[in-house]
Amino acid sequence: MAKDTIHKEVVILGSGPAGLTAAIYAARANLKPLVVEGPQPGGQLMITTDVENYPGFSNGIMGPILMDEFREQARRFDTEFLVTWVSKADLSKRPFTLETEDQIIKADTLIIASGASAKWLGIPGEAPIPQGLGGNGVSACATCDGFFFRGKPLVVVGGGDTAMEEATFLTKFATGVTVVHRRDALRASKIMQDKAFKNEKIDFIWDTAVEEILGSRETGVTGVRLKNLKTGEERVFPTEGVFIAIDHQPNTELFKGQLDMDDVGYLKTRDRSTATNIPGVFACGDAQDGVYRQAVTAAGTGCMAAIDAERFLGSHPISAEDREKDRELAAQ
Ligand code: NDP
Repeated sequence: MAKDTIHKEVVILGSGPAGLTAAIYAARANLKPLVVEGPQPGGQLMITTDVENYPGFSNGIMGPILMDEFREQARRFDTEFLVTWVSKADLSKRPFTLETEDQIIKADTLIIASGASAKWLGIPGEAPIPQGLGGNGVSACATCDGFFFRGKPLVVVGGGDTAMEEATFLTKFATGVTVVHRRDALRASKIMQDKAFKNEKIDFIWDTAVEEILGSRETGVTGVRLKNLKTGEERVFPTEGVFIAIDHQPNTELFKGQLDMDDVGYLKTRDRSTATNIPGVFACGDAQDGVYRQAVTAAGTGCMAAIDAERFLGSHPISAEDREKDRELAAQ
């Protein structure tokens, strides 16, 4: 059966703060954008509880409620939404083509806001509520959740810059932070290592893997089961919160070989803009930002991407003739 074809001036891939802010701006510019929501509509904020650092909410706001507000605002200005999984992307010519199970989506401009996903250990106790303690003492975002661990002992897993940054940040709240790392040397930059080593509230457990997060829905996290990878010795280490800091993975696999990205997979954008190496394709949010990774910075770059797309469309219109040719091809 032939797939439905949808043709839009602006297609936004992703529905976190970056994608939805891009939608609000593009919709207000009368571009009637289509937001293709990914497998986790609303993005990473859907898995956090209170968001207390998003400006404008003096008493904080629940992550999922904040994203509902973003969504409603985008919808009010005529944004269309499609919940689907894009399996193929062809950026070799305009209009760009995205393919889903049921649709062919043509885009005169494409805004990639597909975000990043925290990497997890995949151990028992780590999954989100109700299967595990994720969101109930297990987190991958100290800036989002650190405040809730005031006066508690915490564990951070990882040995890179993220782990050092999270551990250092968490000492503002925790009674103490224990970094559990699988080797006996950190991967983090020297400056971040020095900062962590100098902090009296940070301890290290080396050559050790966290095998399980212990606790229950009622108690929250009570400890972790550790295994020394050199001696094989196992033990329970008491803690009231676990932060997994073993890196994030930008969700950009779909564009490998087409868009310039760094070794990790973050999309490269040009100068002070959201332009990628392909004219008409823009990237915003965590898909292109491995440094700040905050909801508010993602929203900011989403706004930039919509403005960049609007300006691009103004100077690179697709001719009526090309549009007709494209329609005929799609109908064959
Ligand atoms: P990294 O890849 O640098 O480090 C990941 C850490 O997690 C490593 O120590 C790694 O161990 C460990 N790890 C990975 N998988 C597992 C696992 N399955 N079990 C146990 N441990 C595991 O990621 P980061 O997120 O720390 O940093 C990513 C990039 O972002 C880096 O380039 C970093 O410099 C940058 N960054 C910069 C910051 C800044 O400048 N302020 C802040 C945060 C990040 P191992 O060492 O054994 O491989």
